[in-house]
Amino acid sequence: MAGDDDILGTSARGARGRRGRTAAEGSVVASGPQSGAMLEVQDLRVRFQTDDGLVRAVDGVSFALDRGQTLGIVGESGSGKSVTSLAIMGLHRGGSTTIDGRIWLSGEELVGANPARVRELRGAKMAMIFQDPLSSLHPYFKIGDQIVEAYRIHHPKESKRQARQRTIDMLGRVGIPQPEVRVDDYPHQFSGGMRQRVMIAMALVNDPELLIADEPTTALDVTVQAQILDLISSLQAEFGSAVIIITHDLGVVAELSDDILVMYAGRAAEYGPAVGVFNRPEHPYTWGLMASMPRMDRELTTRLVPIPGTPPSLIRVPPGCPFHPRCRYTGLVGERCKTEVPLLLEASAGHASACHLTAAQKAREWSELSGANVRGEIRETVPQGEVEA
Ligand code: SF4
Repeated sequence: MAGDDDILGTSARGARGRRGRTAAEGSVVASGPQSGAMLEVQDLRVRFQTDDGLVRAVDGVSFALDRGQTLGIVGESGSGKSVTSLAIMGLHRGGSTTIDGRIWLSGEELVGANPARVRELRGAKMAMIFQDPLSSLHPYFKIGDQIVEAYRIHHPKESKRQARQRTIDMLGRVGIPQPEVRVDDYPHQFSGGMRQRVMIAMALVNDPELLIADEPTTALDVTVQAQILDLISSLQAEFGSAVIIITHDLGVVAELSDDILVMYAGRAAEYGPAVGVFNRPEHPYTWGLMASMPRMDRELTTRLVPIPGTPPSLIRVPPGCPFHPRCRYTGLVGERCKTEVPLLLEASAGHASACHLTAAQKAREWSELSGANVRGEIRETVPQGEVEA
């Protein structure tokens, strides 16, 4: 196991020997498309010019993903999760948006690519499911016609009859009963869960290599959430796609993900194999997310512990560690938290975090925290000088 002071080199390998990283300020940077992953994002930076100032929505994020693998991107609202996925899909508007860094999909560079080429890839090689299926489906058109259109754009030689049959097959595969009848229904004739199934059918109709699900269960009730997550998981096994699941809820990605990327203020706070991130999280922000997550292994009377404060404005990101105004552990480090941006450093194979705490401090604090957590002893505390939002 590498020490906490190790900086990831280009030869360093990730959890399954496929991530190569170099340290950059506040980020890890993959070594390039030659590392062989189907999707590689390298030092991605997305900025928006607004009337109030420059928004640094994503600031040096890197990760890699293979077909058949699932990456969970976790963080609060405004952490840069969705902006990252929209950059991959090429859905940011030009003009006020600046995108730097590299994104490779099956070795093809997407940043700076011809927009017409990105449109060809979108839908065919990469597809996205949004959190609100009602606003994603056009209310005036039958759901079957909308899926047929998405299919025929990328299969112009297929007849309408073939496309309709493919649509009916897909609706059946995502669990819509009587698909040959429901294909002619309008979006308002479906429940929220069924509409999300329709969106999944539309996303997968062209058998994409990459499926991005942005908060796919947020608008659904709990039992339907579980069904949709199971559906995504089983369809991934069937289609072999790479899947990115974006969520603010660690519980959503716990079962599904191979890797977890925890984002805060547009940067990677922690990145590694899911089993490592859940069993031995390295970053105080991840600890906070876990302490605020309901768990079956806790007493029912145990209070959930919120993270104090709110995420920072991405126009005025705090200096040093962006998490320092909310962090309970700055006292163990001192001024460095406020002045020096922590690098994303590897603590064990493929598992890295951006925090100035030493390996021994992290181990001790997590051990105490997780033990107290299970025993229900954690009490909410606010860091010195912090004003609760
Ligand atoms: Fe907290 Fe400091 Fe670590 Fe940031 S660097 S997470 S402020 S201890």
